[in-house]
This record gives sequence, C-alpha cells and structure tokens, in this order.
Amino acid sequence: MRSLVEGTDVKTRPLSVAILGAGAAGLCMAIKLREAGVEDFTIFEKASSVGGTWRDNTYPGSGCDVPSMLYSYSFEPKPDWSRKFAPQPEIVDYFETVARKYRLLPNIRFNTEITEARFDEEEGLWRIRAADGTEFMANVLISGVGQLNRPAYPKIEGLNDFKGVAFHSARWNHDVDLAGKRVGVIGNGASAIQFVPEIAPKVARLTIFQRTPNWCVPKPDRPFKEWEKGLYRSFPFLARIQRWWTWMMLERNYLAFVQGSFFGKLFEKAALKEMETHIKDPELRRKLTPDYPAGCKRILLTNDWYPALARPNVEVETSHIARVTADSIVTEDGVAHPVDVIIHATGFESTDFLAPMKIVGRGNADLNHVWARGAEAHRGVAVSGFPNFFMLYGPNTNLGHNSIIFMIECQANYIAQCVAALRNSRLRYIDVRKEAMESFNRDLQQDMQKTVWAAGCSSWYKTADGKVTNNWSSFTAKYWWEMRHPDFEEYALQGG
Ligand code: NAP
Repeated sequence: MRSLVEGTDVKTRPLSVAILGAGAAGLCMAIKLREAGVEDFTIFEKASSVGGTWRDNTYPGSGCDVPSMLYSYSFEPKPDWSRKFAPQPEIVDYFETVARKYRLLPNIRFNTEITEARFDEEEGLWRIRAADGTEFMANVLISGVGQLNRPAYPKIEGLNDFKGVAFHSARWNHDVDLAGKRVGVIGNGASAIQFVPEIAPKVARLTIFQRTPNWCVPKPDRPFKEWEKGLYRSFPFLARIQRWWTWMMLERNYLAFVQGSFFGKLFEKAALKEMETHIKDPELRRKLTPDYPAGCKRILLTNDWYPALARPNVEVETSHIARVTADSIVTEDGVAHPVDVIIHATGFESTDFLAPMKIVGRGNADLNHVWARGAEAHRGVAVSGFPNFFMLYGPNTNLGHNSIIFMIECQANYIAQCVAALRNSRLRYIDVRKEAMESFNRDLQQDMQKTVWAAGCSSWYKTADGKVTNNWSSFTAKYWWEMRHPDFEEYALQGG
C-alpha cells in the first residue's frame, strides 16, 4: 500500500486516499474504506470540526426535513433521536459521535482547504495543493464536498453601500441581536422557512422579498416519546424496521415527481389546504400560490411558515429588488423598504459542484472547463479523463423525495470497491470510459424529461440553460441496484 505523506518519494509509497470534506459523505467514505481494508486515508477539512453543511447552517430553527431515522447511516442507527425531524445541533452531534466512534479524528487534517489537484499519469497519483501552498500526494482522490457547501450571494446593485448588517443564512451572525430591528429576508426557500418563524416574533418588522412562491406541505414532526426511545434502544431491529418503513414511504413519494401525476396533484391539494387554513388574506394567498407543478422546486415541509407570514409585523414583497441603498431595499415598483439587517436566504452555488477548486485530469483537462455546459458524471461518481477520482453527492445524485444519506452510502460502497480493486489488482489507475459515461447520461437525461424537475421553473437543481445537473431521475431503489458493484467493463484499467 502507498501512504499519504508530505513530500515522500512516490515510488516508495503504498496506496493512499485523499478525501475532501468531513461532512456526512466524507465520514461515510472513510468508514467504508476501513471496512474494505484501506487504512491509509486522510480527510482534508477546511473547517476545524466535522459535520459539513450541518456544522455551517446554525441559523435559528435549522433542522432536517428528512425523518431522522433515515437521515443517519444504516450501519449506525440512533435509537434516541429527540424528534421525528431532528434539529441541527443534534445532527452535528450525531456526526461528531460517529467520527469519534469510528476513530476517524486522527485521519482528519482540519483547517486545510484544498484548492487544486492535478493527476500525474506517469505515477498514477494526484498532486494536491492546499490554500497555504502545502502539497500532498495520493493515489486516489475522493470529493465529499457535496452540492450545498458554498453560499450563493445575490448580485444586487448597491449591496456594498448598505450601512446596516448583512449576512447569509448559512453563515448566521449570532452577534447580531435582531430584537426590535427591521429585517429584510431575501429568498423564501428551505432555509428561510425554518428561520423566519423563529425570528418573526422578536423583530420589529420583517419583509420577505419573494421572487417565486413555493409549495409548502405540513411537516409530520413531533418529539419521540421516552417509551419509543426505550423500545428502539432495547430492540434495535425495531429501529431498523422503522428506518426501512420510512424509506419505503418516501420512495413512494417519487411518484409525485412524475409530471402530471395524480400523486403530484395530491401534494398540491394538501399544500393549498394548508395555506387556506393559515392565510385568510386573499391577496397574500395569491402571492403565495405557485404557478408551476409541485416538486419542480423543492417541496417545503413546515408547520409554522404560513402562521409566521400571517403575523401583522411580517410582509411578503413580490415586486423584485431593484437596488439596495445605505438603509433600505428598493423594489422595482419604486418603494423603499427601510431595513437595519439584510439576511440573504439565497441558497448555494449548487450547480458549480467542485468550483472553485481546480481539478486537472489527463491531458491537462480542467474539470471546470469540461463541465462548462453543465456538470455530469458516470453514475454521479466518476468523470472520464479524471482517473482515480471519485465524488460523493456528485452530479445527478440529489433527491427531492428521499434521504441523501441513502445515496451517499450507495456511492461510498461503490467507490470503496473501486479502490479495493485498484489495490488488489495493483493497477496504476482506473478511468471511466467516455462511451459508458455518455451512454449513462443520455439515458438519465431522457428519463429526467418525465419528471417535474425538468418542468418550466428555475431551481437550484438546474443550470441557467435548464439542464438538470443535480437530481437523480428515478427511484433510489434503482440507484441502489445499479450501484451494488462497479462494472469494470465501464472502466479503462491501467496496470502498474
Ligand atoms: P434555495 O432553496 O435555493 O432558495 C433560495 C431562495 O433565494 C429562493 O427563494 C430564490 O428565489 C431566492 N433568491 C436567490 N437569489 C435571489 C436574488 N438575487 N434575488 C431575490 N431572491 C433570490 O436555498 P435554501 O433555502 O438555502 O435551500 C437550499 C437547499 O438546502 C434546500 O433545497 C435543501 O436541499 C437544503 N436545505 C435543507 C434543509 C433541510 O431541512 N434538510 C434546510 C435548509 C436547506 P427563486 O426561487 O425565485 O430562485
């Protein structure tokens, strides 16, 4: 085996793996590599602790909209989640506990941001550079940075002139006391619907600048009772059954994401009923009613968003933002909305995937250039021309209906088998064949056309040109089936 040691002579090193990111994906990958007998791995983490996007999103009310029993690894169930849908601190605690239990911390290099990786074809290894200029080498490079790690800031004229405080929901400024302030929230997605109900009772005035309304359905959340936790602790198989049942129920929801489906209409009906229960003002109802099929943008699960919007100190502004001045947000209808604080709930740079990292494969190909017309990969994990490089939660692996942890586990199992094959067969590298990758993506994009993700709305699932680069197009069961084992016919294998 080759090891990952700074500056060592490559020819004397055993097989080594570099994993980028110590979030849900990176930690899972490390565990699966250990299971496959690969001990020589390093996780590079730009922050000083584990948890990825869950560590970063500390805004009030932050939590998961996927049931906790399924938002945890299948091999590491947690019988005592406090609620059906866990809050953010509990999720971070879960990943910290996993990192400790599986002895991953010694393998994590914290405070190390990787900016560049180049494949050395001759040696069959990746030369990896950190932001501080330190260089590392590894035979295999695995990205676990996911799709939601870089906040997207709106490009609005005058933002720099704003004299109040402005921050992004994913970089919440806890030093700012919002009590009695006039707050402008830009955006109304999954993050905004969680923190707006938390801050609305405290602030003097809250204006939500909405471009597009979302479909919102009730969240079937409640605390787990002590006897339920006791049962799951005493009889772990019950927790497994619960997990499996939850997966089945969410899997069924995929049917709602097929364009024109009966199930989709049921979602829309439930969402409209929920709105009518809480929003009595017909004008506000009109503003909040989407004109695109449910699921085209992420369906939002919430019990307190509409009640928050109905508060007298909350306003939904639908005239688009024209500019920002020193003390207000001016909308296109010419109205100036005075604000002390602006919160950007504007989501993430989701379609850029690995940017701004520079990943350079065979023939000096830069992955950001290869993906200029939209990212794509083979089964979401490999890209032709980038040997010994794998991704977790890569292109076309996001979901609208089930748990991403399930997808990550499928990928980690698959990649661990590729790494084991590299080691056992003493290969220099494996590189997915262009034809295999193209054929996979042709089928995927064709399949995508029948889903609501390809319908006519803008979303973080697709590029400005309308190519859906983020979502998986089918049931997760199909993905699991196809990812059980790598088909090495799909790869070019280069001997050592
Ligand atoms: P998002 O869903 O992408 O929402 C961004 C919002 O900002 C949208 O309402 C968007 O409007 C608006 N926006 C963007 N740029 C704007 C601009 N220049 N001017 C005005 N409005 C602008 O982002 P998010 O709410 O952070 O959620 C992103 C994803 O993170 C979620 O879909 C989910 O997968 C994940 N997340 C998950 C949870 C969870 O519970 N598991 C919680 C939070 C987030 P348009 O719709 O018109 O583009």
